[in-house]
Amino acid sequence: MAEPVITLRHFFERARAGQLTGVRCRKCGELAIPPKELCPACYERAWEPVPLGGEGTIASYTVIRVAPRAFMADAPYAVAAVKLTEGVSILGRIVDIPLERLAVGLPVRFRPIVRNSQTAIGFGPA
Ligand SMILES: [Zn+2]
Repeated sequence: MAEPVITLRHFFERARAGQLTGVRCRKCGELAIPPKELCPACYERAWEPVPLGGEGTIASYTVIRVAPRAFMADAPYAVAAVKLTEGVSILGRIVDIPLERLAVGLPVRFRPIVRNSQTAIGFGPA
């Protein structure tokens, strides 16, 4: 199997450096994030990497009060589906926004959450 143009590993390496990267299908123009093996719209593999601005708005969110063991100390915290300016949505953890201020439509900005060797997608105040 050929390597995808941008692998999940690259995606998280770039995210760690503060750059959110999507992939755009050269066949049909579909934008995807995080990168996928095949285009969900036309099933081609013709991706090219697209740097994204990292700005968006909260489309929906959930407050996690009982967290998985690794995040227990962080609870309660929120996970949101963020609709980016480019039109795609991605799940991320909300940081530095009080839970009571969370609302659908609230502008947020991408911010990597870096812990040791792990990088996670986060969103903070815009
Ligand atoms: Zn496509």
